[in-house]
Amino acid sequence: MIKISKEAIGKIELHGKKTYPEECCGVMLGRSDGDRQTVYDIVEFDNNQDENRRRRFFVTPKQYLQAERLASENSLELLGFYHSHPDHPAIPSEYDRDHALPWFTYVIVSIMNREAKGIAAWLLSEDRSHFNEREMLVHDSGKMSLERTLTLATEQQDNFNKYKEIGASSKVGD
Ligand SMILES: [Zn+2]
Repeated sequence: MIKISKEAIGKIELHGKKTYPEECCGVMLGRSDGDRQTVYDIVEFDNNQDENRRRRFFVTPKQYLQAERLASENSLELLGFYHSHPDHPAIPSEYDRDHALPWFTYVIVSIMNREAKGIAAWLLSEDRSHFNEREMLVHDSGKMSLERTLTLATEQQDNFNKYKEIGASSKVGD
């Protein structure tokens, strides 16, 4: 499952509309806990494919290193990549499968006639034979920044302490 804010989705859609009819691409930074990933922010990349930009996106080794550095500087993980499919559904292509790595999440946004028409998250199978769709949990709690997450954690702890004081047994948080 991948948890992503409406704001981050809005940024991905906007990037796709901006580069239409060419593909856009970028990275997703966040945290993972087992199968559960939380996207904190996205970073736009320029599309470095020289030919056929409409059907291909390509992340250079240099961009990949930049993304890894950006993630580690912010104490976050590189969760995966996003790209757009101009005038095609949000389903991975054969090219996508050939260029994907099994441990990253691939988010695809479909841009039909300059409008965002669907978004989906995919994970490559370990034998690289196919993609499995990942459950996407979209939340609207504004910017999912590290600061906000820490604040939320503190609030939950405060609430928990209150519950303890009044002897309530209800589950707090999550
Ligand atoms: Zn694609």
